[in-house]
Order: sequence, then C-alpha cells, then structure tokens
Amino acid sequence: MNKILFFVDIYKWLISFIVFLQAAKLLFFFGFINLKRNDELYYNEDMIIFKHAEDLQSYCKKNNFSKLSMGFVPTMGALHTGHLSLIDQCKKQTDITICSIFVNPTQFNDPEDFKKYPVTIENDILFLEKHGCDILFLPAEKEIYPDDSSKNIHYDLGYLETILEGKFRHGHFQGVCSVVEKLLRIVNPDYLFIGQKDFQQCLVIKKLISIMKLDIAIIICPTLREANGLAMSSRNLRLNDSEKNLASHLYQTLEKIKKTMTPFNFSVLKSKAINDLENDGFKMEYLELAKSSNLELVNVFKPGDKLIILIAAYLNGVRLIDNLLIN
Ligand code: AMP
Repeated sequence: MNKILFFVDIYKWLISFIVFLQAAKLLFFFGFINLKRNDELYYNEDMIIFKHAEDLQSYCKKNNFSKLSMGFVPTMGALHTGHLSLIDQCKKQTDITICSIFVNPTQFNDPEDFKKYPVTIENDILFLEKHGCDILFLPAEKEIYPDDSSKNIHYDLGYLETILEGKFRHGHFQGVCSVVEKLLRIVNPDYLFIGQKDFQQCLVIKKLISIMKLDIAIIICPTLREANGLAMSSRNLRLNDSEKNLASHLYQTLEKIKKTMTPFNFSVLKSKAINDLENDGFKMEYLELAKSSNLELVNVFKPGDKLIILIAAYLNGVRLIDNLLIN
C-alpha cells in the first residue's frame, strides 16, 4: 500500500512540475513580447504641438532643454515609414525629439507640384505620437515667412546648385536653405536627422550649416524602401499600385548598374538604362554617376573610389528620385 502511495506522490509531483514549466514558458513568452513591444513603439500621448516659434522656444527654455541633447527631424508631412525611421533614430540618439511639418512653398519650382503635395496631418500626428516624438512644430506660412523679403535670401551654394536637382529644379535649393535655416534658428537642435534619399540635399544642408557657422551635427539616415525596392516617398501616394510597381524599376536599374559597372563602362550602361526606362514610360531627367563626397560627375573611375549613382524621372506626372552608394 505504502509503495502505491509513494508512486502516486511521485506522479503528482511530476504533473505539478510539468504544469509549472508550462506556466513559466507562457509567462516568459508574454513578458518578452511586451518588452519587445515597449522597445519598438513608445506611445507619447504627451507630444506637444506648437504652431508658434515663440511658444516652442519659451517651452524649451522653461524646461531647461539646453542641458539636454535635442534632435530635430524636419519634414513636409505625409509621413511614411522612411520619415519615422528618422524619428526612431533621433529618439535613440538624443534626449528630446522634435519634428516639424511644413510644406515649404519656396522649394517648389513647379506650383502644380506644390498644390498637389499630399497633406495627411491627422495621420502624421498619430504616427509621431506612436513613435514617441516629444514635440511637433507645425507652423503656418506666415510664421516662417512673415513677408516677401524673408523669402528672398540668397545662399552661395556654388557647384552643388548647378547639377542634378539644382539643374532641373531652379531655385529649389535656395528654398530648402531658407526654410532649413529658419527652422534651425527656431529649434536650435544639437543634431539634425536627414535622409540619404535626398542625397544632394544632405550636401546642401551641410554647406548651409558651415556657411551659417552653426554648431549642429548632421546624421544621415539610410533610405527606407518598399518590398519591391521603391524608395518610400510622400509622392508615392499619388501613384496607383501598378505605377508603384513600375516605379520600382528606378531602384532595380540602379542595382543593375552597380552590379555590372566597371571603371570604364558607365556611359554604355547609362544609355541602355535610359532607353529601357523611357520604353517603360518614364520621362527621364538624369541618371548620373558622381563622387559621393562632392557630387563631381564622372563617367570613369578608379576601383575603390567612393561614388553614388543618382536618378530622377517622372512617372505619369509624379517626379521620383533615388540614389545608390557605391563603396
Ligand atoms: P520630406 O518630407 O520629403 O521633406 O522628407 C523629410 C526627411 O525625410 C528628409 O530628410 C528626407 O530625406 C527623409 N526621407 C524621405 N524619404 C525617406 C526614405 N524613404 N527613407 C529615409 N528617409 C527619408
């Protein structure tokens, strides 16, 4: 009898032990998921929205933000995962994340493009809260450009303004510099987060910061892409699904050139690529190879040179740009 009771006890023990293990597994699993969730998305319901520069500045002063590191992500809204990757990076690297949304009229060389620029402000605010942005600066045009004279400052950008985007979008970089200078002077960040997607713009902003002698570190973040390779862009909202598929040919072309390029064959690859893209329905503006340090255009190069291929084209009236670094 005792022997039987002994085995029953052992059996009970074994069952309890297995139940305990299962429970521990479940606890660990849910705990881990929660940890991951908290790590990836940090809802900041306290994100503050300022419409006036003065209010933003006095808030930063009142809270002693000058003692903390401040990161700034300027955007034109219609936010997508690419923009949000800049916010995430900014959150990782700095104490306070400030984003601005302002569709800057002075950087649109084509008034139609300005009129059609997508605006999705409610969604943008939700996305920013979801990604833990601390402050959104949402100025009206008068806040940035109180009068016409404030739109007409000239920046000496030299060679950078004569090629690629500068050549095809007259006045575009002057407009970019006016708005970026004004925003930087309002926000006064330690770090500025911008995307490699607009590579020439990154060099222009570097130059602006050195012209203005501002003490701001620039962090260039990688381009986020759709699964088919299409660089994410607010302008993609103006494409339907089949156009989005076609638009991915731009990136595929860059990849193909990168794979098959030798020091001497870029010109041949370029002619073939332009021909193929035009047959696909693109209206090409440029496809160029350049040194990535200063965008000096080249056709031949030495192995190991740091280069970038840049492309711009219209697809059914929507202007798309992309680039790919080499080495
Ligand atoms: P925009 O709203 O187009 O002026 O862009 C605001 C910032 O987001 C700029 O610094 C862009 O370079 C950056 N950006 C735009 N698209 C992407 C993308 N697909 N991946 C990463 N950054 C991007």
